[in-house]
Parts: sequence; C-alpha cells; structure tokens
Amino acid sequence: MRNVALIACLLWPAVVVAQQPQDFSKVQIKVTKVSGNIYMLEGQGGNIAASVGDDGIVIVDDEFAPLAPKIEMALHNLGITDKPVRFVLNTHFHGDHTGGNLPLATDGATIIAHDNVRKRLETGGPGGNGGSIQTQNPSQPKGALPIITFADDVTVHLNGEDIRALHFPAGHTDGDAVIFFPNNRVVHMGDDFVRYGFPFVDVASGGTVQGMAEACEKVAAQLPADVKVIPGHGALSNLDDLRAFARMLRETTAVVEKALADHKTLDEMKQEKILAPWQKWSGDFINTDAFIETIYNSLTGTQGKFIRHN
Ligand SMILES: [Zn+2]
Repeated sequence: MRNVALIACLLWPAVVVAQQPQDFSKVQIKVTKVSGNIYMLEGQGGNIAASVGDDGIVIVDDEFAPLAPKIEMALHNLGITDKPVRFVLNTHFHGDHTGGNLPLATDGATIIAHDNVRKRLETGGPGGNGGSIQTQNPSQPKGALPIITFADDVTVHLNGEDIRALHFPAGHTDGDAVIFFPNNRVVHMGDDFVRYGFPFVDVASGGTVQGMAEACEKVAAQLPADVKVIPGHGALSNLDDLRAFARMLRETTAVVEKALADHKTLDEMKQEKILAPWQKWSGDFINTDAFIETIYNSLTGTQGKFIRHN
C-alpha cells in the first residue's frame, strides 16, 4: 500500500486527476524530532523539514494543498511557538513538494525557491523520464509562486541558524535545491536523494542522472559524519545511505555508458538486462527498464528541456 500511495503522489497529478480525486482526509501528519529544533513531517508526498523556534517556523517543502491545515496544526501542536510558518523553501517544483504553497502563502508565509521552480510552476507542462514515465504538471496561480527566487543560493537567518539553500543544476529537475541546517547537522536533499529504489529523474524538466549523482557526491563531501539526511521520500537517513545511493547512480550510469559506446540500442539494453546486478533497487514506480530509459535519455541528452535561468 505504501508503494501504491507513493506512486500516486509521485505521479500527481497525471494519474490522480485523470482517474479520481485523491482523498487526503485520512492522511495524518507524523512528526519526528530530527535534531535540536529541526523536525521531519511525513504525510502524503515529499518529506517536510521544519525549523521551529522563537523566531517562528521555516519549512522545506509543503506536500499537497489540502494538507496545509494539518501541517500547520502539527507544527503548532509541538508547543514551541505560537508564531506561524514565515518561510517555505521549495526543493523543486513538483506538486507533491509545492502543493501547499498557495494555502501557506495565503496564511502569510513567503515562498522561496530557485528561479526555475517559479518558471515551471507558472507555465506547467509535461514531465517524465523521456520514455515510459510521463507526467503532466498543471500551471499554478500567482499566489502559489515563490516570491523570492535565487540562481545559486540563498540563506534564511532565523532561529539562531543560517539555513542555506544551495542549487544543484540538472539533477532531479533543473531547479533543485538542497537545504542545509548547519548548527543542527541536518540536510534536506529534496528528490536528489530518495529511498524508494531507482529514482524518478524528470529528464523532460531538465533533470539528468549524472547531475543527481554529482549533487549527492558534492553534498556528501561537505557533511559531517553524524549528519541526519532527510530524503525527498522515505525514511530519515544517514551519510552512508546517501553515499550508497550516489554509488548506485554512478555504477549504473557507467554500465549504460559502456553499452552506448558498444552501439547497443535502448531495446537491446533492456533485453540484455544490463542492470540486473542492481535489481534490488527496482521498484513499483521506477523499475529497472524505466531506469535504463532514464539513464539512456540523460546520457544522450535528447529528451531534456532545460530552462536557462539567467
Ligand atoms: Zn520530485
């Protein structure tokens, strides 16, 4: 069931809207204390990180619009502050991470994201891995768009911490940011790091597997050994988990790269099951064949549509 729910929310809204409206009334928000004044919230959609303190609340990502009141209530119920969510940082534009932007902004929060998040939320359009995984992103109203955007990085100075969002190009999308909470030794990876198996890379929205691997490696290189890593989806993780994920991305990419050099077609790569040694990463959402397509399209570079952000 967990996987079915995950597929539904990852493919939101392509699958969900086309078939039936998703029922959020049963969704409960699980709150986990990660470290110091940082919390992780899980409901439906991408994981949320929250810095909760005397200055108010800063959150990273906001799941789906109907969950916003539950998210606000869960944060209030911590009993730490009566102040509202003041800032929302979006790790990327996908609807399962930005759906709450409109209601939270209406309640007074300021949305911050990479330049391309604003552009893609504004225009909407098709996404996917350039092959069998196809998504449709609706364009969002003005009130859901980030008010503050950045090209490389931005820092929010609240609750005694320099909360830093750092852009990594062409990973899960072309607008990804990783969010660091340095005092608390916590990082939120967005969907550049997920725990459901082979990752969805939105090649049609400027993502590449190589960029995702590079983001994971660069982040891992600057983290302390005891860091707590919040993945875009899945359980709270550690540095070893992040490194293992990056290694899998590099190894599988090398195999497809070699097959390309040997002039193999995409169909031949699938038939020969060239990623069989990584079968344990195959999931219901991105199975091995879908991941071969993803790497193939990332390497050949023909399917991605990058936005030049400046
Ligand atoms: Zn995503």
